[in-house]
Amino acid sequence: MKRLIFLGPPGAGKGTQAKLLAAKTGIAHISTGEMLRSAISSGTTLGKQAQTYVDKGELVPDQLLLDLIRARLREPDAKNGWILDGFPRNASQAAFLDKLLMEMNQACDYAINLEVPEQVLMERLVGRGRKDDNPETIRRRLEVYHEHTAPVLDFYLLKGNLKSVNGDRPLEEVNKSLQEIVNGGIRDLK
Ligand code: ADP
Repeated sequence: MKRLIFLGPPGAGKGTQAKLLAAKTGIAHISTGEMLRSAISSGTTLGKQAQTYVDKGELVPDQLLLDLIRARLREPDAKNGWILDGFPRNASQAAFLDKLLMEMNQACDYAINLEVPEQVLMERLVGRGRKDDNPETIRRRLEVYHEHTAPVLDFYLLKGNLKSVNGDRPLEEVNKSLQEIVNGGIRDLK
């Protein structure tokens, strides 16, 4: 049973890798981006509130995410561990998660930084073609990443549970490194 946080810029492959790892290990995959997109497409109150932010590549206001995560981590499938993909995305979300996990008597085992060079990220995102993958929004999402999300790496570095994985490799190879971390194998895989 493992609890993992996937960090790394947009296009690093967090979603792809988390999905694959979840399928192989039975750990729940929790993607805030997917939850928001599904809320938007079904037109819920949350979806309506989140849409303009997602479309512009801005972060959705914390309060909306906090309620969502609190409820999601309490669902039965999350008892077998979880992979958080897209959360926390700024320092205050990281502080919130820390407190929430403490209240729940849980702790994250590893925060995993998927490292991919910026040029590769751009190519991947442009090729993906999601609604928020147009050049202007992509540029903004990368800026938001550097400004708000990259500092979250330091939070987990200081806690001593940050690991880096080279995400600029074939999908299966990256996933193998992640599985080794889940299995508590070799440390500090690159
Ligand atoms: P990517 O990591 O490829 O940019 P995501 O699916 O993780 O894609 O996120 C898509 C969008 O959803 C983000 O650009 C942002 O608007 C919103 N979002 C997702 N997670 C969060 C979060 N934790 N806090 C605020 N906004 C979020």
